[in-house]
Amino acid sequence: MQETARDGQSVYLRAYEDFYHHTLKVTERNEPGLGHISWRASSKEALERRVKELEKSGAGKGWIDGDLGHGAAYQFVTPVPVRRLDHVNLMSSDVTRNKNFMMDELGFRLREHVVRNDGSEIGSWLSVSPLVHELAFMGDASTSEQGLGKLHHVAFWYGFPQHLHDLSEVLTENGIQIEAGPLKHGVSQAMCMYVIEPGGNRVELFGDSGYLIFDPDWKPVTWTEEQVERAIIFYGEPLPDTYFKYGTPNVQAPVVNK
Ligand code: FE
Repeated sequence: MQETARDGQSVYLRAYEDFYHHTLKVTERNEPGLGHISWRASSKEALERRVKELEKSGAGKGWIDGDLGHGAAYQFVTPVPVRRLDHVNLMSSDVTRNKNFMMDELGFRLREHVVRNDGSEIGSWLSVSPLVHELAFMGDASTSEQGLGKLHHVAFWYGFPQHLHDLSEVLTENGIQIEAGPLKHGVSQAMCMYVIEPGGNRVELFGDSGYLIFDPDWKPVTWTEEQVERAIIFYGEPLPDTYFKYGTPNVQAPVVNK
């Protein structure tokens, strides 16, 4: 890492792909430990909006004047050990139509997709950032029986692959259903597992983030119909049937003509 500044007992450092003044501040202390983690908001207004939400949540601690490399900041405590929200996956009766909408209206970019031999899409993975996906659409194999537009899963970035095994023990001890994994995805190349929370929603936990995309000329990775299982499970036990059919809310609804 490069040293960008030194102040009192602290040294500020950045890695060669980091964009900002520093990503690590090391301060001399008698005991090891974590001081704080910071997230950058996209504007002053965005920061103020986040502060309002944090204050409502009860996790807010208050404003500080700032630090070398950043201005005024608002401090808060995290209520859960997961690191961050990673992505959301939605079940869709028309993957391509939803994909095109998000690309045309909101500027999402296609990162990976699985395409049937007739040209229609089984799934597409989209993002507005270097993450492989913040949003995915997957074909709903149960549309005709169970309605349209369900949540497939919400995913949190948890940590490293070993953490998934640690978590598997905690979840099993507490009677939480593990639907699949730990396993490795083909799409995104991430280690992950799927859990059904007590309320019935599917939650994915990422053991790592997979790869990151910094190339503005990125061409989407295309998987064929024959490769669909490899796209979802690169290695690990096969997915249960529920993975392709179960979403929430799990309701009966009339099929809408496309
Ligand atoms: Fe996912």
